[in-house]
Amino acid sequence: MGRASRPFSMLEFEEALARVLAAVPAPTRENVSLNDSAGRVLAEQIRSPLDLPSFDNSSMDGYALRAADVASAKLNSPVCLRLAGKVAAGETFTGEVMAGTCVRLFTGSPLPPGADAVVMQEETRVEPNAAGEVLILAPVGPGENVRSRAEDVQQGSTLAEAGELLTAGRIGLLAAVGLNRVPVGRQPVVGLLATGSELQEPGQPLAPGRIYESNRIALAAILKRAGAVPVTFPLVVDQLAATSTALAEAFSQCDAVVTSGGVSVGEMDFIKHAFEQMGGELQFWKVAIKPGRPFVFGRYRGKLLFGLPGNPVSALVTFLLLVRPALLRWQGATDVSLPTHPGVLAEPLVNHGERRHFMRVRLDSTSKVRSAGAQASHILSSVAAANGLVDVPADTTLSAGAAVAVLRWD
Ligand code: AMP
Ligand code: MG
Repeated sequence: MGRASRPFSMLEFEEALARVLAAVPAPTRENVSLNDSAGRVLAEQIRSPLDLPSFDNSSMDGYALRAADVASAKLNSPVCLRLAGKVAAGETFTGEVMAGTCVRLFTGSPLPPGADAVVMQEETRVEPNAAGEVLILAPVGPGENVRSRAEDVQQGSTLAEAGELLTAGRIGLLAAVGLNRVPVGRQPVVGLLATGSELQEPGQPLAPGRIYESNRIALAAILKRAGAVPVTFPLVVDQLAATSTALAEAFSQCDAVVTSGGVSVGEMDFIKHAFEQMGGELQFWKVAIKPGRPFVFGRYRGKLLFGLPGNPVSALVTFLLLVRPALLRWQGATDVSLPTHPGVLAEPLVNHGERRHFMRVRLDSTSKVRSAGAQASHILSSVAAANGLVDVPADTTLSAGAAVAVLRWD
């Protein structure tokens, strides 16, 4: 049978990632409601249309006054001011605070013209029989208890840069300056295919020799958190025709297709062949990492193929290291690598192999790092227990006490 014929040399991880990122199409933008923007990537720099605060206002419940009027105020010799009015939050005061007068304010109330300070309520007294007067029991300096216009954000200043992720804090800031729509990178639609005649959908009794399929659902979870839109396709049996049909269908609907299984050297591994048959260009196959060596990357009409190994651990790790960055870059993200957290090994991590090993680890709240369990690439329980990966170089033992960078994904 005509197999994918070109020889492919094994790439170093960095080279593989660079090639993947270089093939990602330029982001296209769309405007979305700020309500729906969490986790999206900003497509352009945002400058503030206004000052924040946009007017001087009180940081306390108290009284607006002229600081000079109360310079001598003491508990045992208060200064008496005439109460000229009241400004609730959301209201404005039409007059001016004249010498010898004050105006009742609440947190957030605009500072009335003429006043230059706010004395907090706790440092005042109103006698029961003198409702129109306020006794000020302590002095305040000019500007005290006043939040000044623009002290937080100046009109025209940069609030967020293109390529930044819209986090809760950033979304709140954009809402605070009055925005309700934002330009973001379009989310790639990603087809998920699982190949293997042994695979069965969960939820049905298991036939002899079969296993439940678990890659699409796990990958979809990471994919959504990376801002992409997953489309799950039916299981694909190990036949060239079925693989070709499934790939063609997935590429007709999606920007990228992620397959699992069928990328090794066995005669039942059809992904590369089916992809080339439909006109896809294989870019590389095999990356010098463990787990996940037989990773396939291809281009087809401006779309991308990521062929992951079928082993669930290999599929997950290669997805995190090589696919997730591409999906983020597709949306225009500047920072596409997994976040790292500094940790200290509580036990050794041993890699006797000749490829670097991304080992599953558990990072605890005191930054201690332990192996998440057995590291063979069919062991799922250690994936479930892991909250990070540590990159252990070939033929290396990292001893207990060593500082490590934990790649996080959860
Ligand atoms: P393959 O890469 O197709 O040679 O598969 C490697 C191993 O992973 C085999 O033991 C498969 O049964 C298993 N496997 C492949 N695909 C999946 C899947 N989608 N879910 C669970 N296990 C899988
Ligand atoms: Mg298979």
